[in-house]
Amino acid sequence: MSTNGLPPYDPQNIFARILRGEIPCKRVHEDAFALAFHDINPLAPVHVLVIPKGEYVSAADFHATASDAAIAGFWRAVAKVASEFGLDATGHRLLSNMGNDAGQEVPHFHVHIFGGRRLGRMVPPG
Ligand code: 5GP
Repeated sequence: MSTNGLPPYDPQNIFARILRGEIPCKRVHEDAFALAFHDINPLAPVHVLVIPKGEYVSAADFHATASDAAIAGFWRAVAKVASEFGLDATGHRLLSNMGNDAGQEVPHFHVHIFGGRRLGRMVPPG
């Protein structure tokens, strides 16, 4: 498995444990490819995390190694969740932190969906 400089996949990471049902989450969507749930520390009125069901450390790992069906299914789930929260009309932001410079905390690929207020532009100044 490609890990792109990150450590190998840790099956004890918090999202792996959520996927296995070992710890609870506020689930908003689940299908064959993805699980979506509310972030435990929301930064916007809508702050949902979408994670693929396979073992992928990062965005780079997921897109390099997942099947085409898994990639398509995952992104369709992201779009479906955003739409179901009514965020197509108002707008929303998709974000995936990857590796050290982005401050990725949880080493299981995930996409944040932010919405429900004006989000400001892009990345805060460094
Ligand atoms: P990252 O920095 O890796 O992109 O973001 C990880 C996100 O996971 C953070 O926004 C954090 O609040 C969220 N998070 C961490 N642990 C848990 C948890 O146990 N449950 C839920 N629902 N979210 C979590």
